[in-house]
Amino acid sequence: MANTKYIFVTGGVVSSLGKGIVSASLGKLLQARGYKVTIQKFDPYINIDPGTLNPYEHGECFVTVDGHEADLDLGHYERFLNVPTTRANNVTTGRIYQSVINKERKGDYLGKTVQVIPHITDEIKRNVKLLGSKNQYDFVITEIGGTVGDIESLPFLESVRQLKWEMGKNCMCIHLTYIPYIAAAKEYKTKPTQHSVKQLQELGVQPDILVLRTEHELNANILHKVALFCNVEVDAVIQSIDVPTIYEVPLMLQRQKMDEIVLKKVGLEIGPRPEMKRWKEFLKRKSNATETVSIGLVGKYVELQDAYKSIDESLLLASIYNDRKLDLRLIHSEKVTEENIEELVKGLDGIVVAPGFGQRGIEGKFVAIRYAREHDLPCFGICLGMQCMVIEFARNVLGLKDANSTEMESNTPYKVIDLMAEQKDVTNMGGTMRLGEYDCTLKKGTKVYEAYGKENIKERHRHRFEFNNEYKERFETAGMKCVGENPDTNLVEVIEIPRLKWFVGVQYHPEYSSTVVNPHPLFLSFIKAAIENKQAKHSIKSNG
Ligand code: GLN
Repeated sequence: MANTKYIFVTGGVVSSLGKGIVSASLGKLLQARGYKVTIQKFDPYINIDPGTLNPYEHGECFVTVDGHEADLDLGHYERFLNVPTTRANNVTTGRIYQSVINKERKGDYLGKTVQVIPHITDEIKRNVKLLGSKNQYDFVITEIGGTVGDIESLPFLESVRQLKWEMGKNCMCIHLTYIPYIAAAKEYKTKPTQHSVKQLQELGVQPDILVLRTEHELNANILHKVALFCNVEVDAVIQSIDVPTIYEVPLMLQRQKMDEIVLKKVGLEIGPRPEMKRWKEFLKRKSNATETVSIGLVGKYVELQDAYKSIDESLLLASIYNDRKLDLRLIHSEKVTEENIEELVKGLDGIVVAPGFGQRGIEGKFVAIRYAREHDLPCFGICLGMQCMVIEFARNVLGLKDANSTEMESNTPYKVIDLMAEQKDVTNMGGTMRLGEYDCTLKKGTKVYEAYGKENIKERHRHRFEFNNEYKERFETAGMKCVGENPDTNLVEVIEIPRLKWFVGVQYHPEYSSTVVNPHPLFLSFIKAAIENKQAKHSIKSNG
């Protein structure tokens, strides 16, 4: 189908209502009908990308296959749609301005005064249309970050207004708002939604569909009231009720015919309702799981809900596909000591050591890794987690006292993790890490090879430091093997200790490519090992 349709998703009243999940869910429903769908996110902040933002500001930084540091909502888009995103799927105000200013310096504006309207809005519109330009997609869903009323999102909403005007039926707007419940009055309140829609209308944008976020089901009166005050047909007022898992949202929206309303609005034939068979099977498997697998996640940002989003979701998906409920225990790496580690990992079937940057919390990671190595507890190190596995092994097995990464201690006597050669002259911190997908060759007969079932893989990266190959032989002789390497540069990408049940570290980020219909093989293998570890412990207990 040519003639791409554009759907904008805006938000009002408060932030964190789940615009990303609604966008991903609608995308899934349209995809299930055979349409080609992509979802993009516009972020109204000035940073060029979230790569320079810390997790307190922004949660996890997602990485696309083409090496763009992106908003974590792209992770939801990929997990739902099972289609990779690229740098075109996430654009910030900073990038829009950078591009306009570059054009101005080149003289592209031929003496004109460069202004927000039309130059910034034109650049925004160009980025919206870019994804639809090659007739690659039937639907481009564009999520506008922030909340209507924010000063910084004005140029984006003005662009939505212009595009709706230009494209007519091929373009529509979905507005997500919140219906609070006032317990003392025992009433749901629609006023904030009315105000939010008015604000959008003042900007010239009439929403076609309203999605009301609510904790409990709303009655028909409320839906009619919202429809009446907001110029929206009552069928197009959809509820997004809190559900136990985000993966139920597509079905909840399908029951309210959200996809059908969209098709009707853009003038496409509705056709039969897709069965969503695989999706339902996945949810059934999730609800049928009764036994648990307990995993500890060791990191310094565990108190932040979104800091390790893709890892959390990958562990959940892998647990479901192993028919287990995930019991995820968060272990703050700054609080781990030799005295309390036994207590902290009690009852855990495996641990994941998280990625990260800088010194804070690193010693706790070493303690956790040492415990896992000495007690044969399945352990999965990701990026910095893998580097910590290497450092711990150097210190406590190779006897290289004070071995470290030069990221933490530039004068360490044993630089077992060191800055990559191509990073040595880097002075600009934004977008200059080793980013995106790279090839890796796995050694046959290893746990990772077994997990992937193939020799050549591609995985996404985000780091500046690497395993120092000068030490490779010493590590291998002592039992830590380098089992995955980049075929072009020989960078070590995977380490494992084969004599242990499952002790694997990866320099890359497998969590970015785990999706609902394609859970990542390494997470599956790790969870399987954790379950086997649990079963082995139980049988020792019952036999003893
Ligand atoms: N800080 C480490 C590096 O830059 C690891 C990065 C990460 O965990 N993503 O190499």
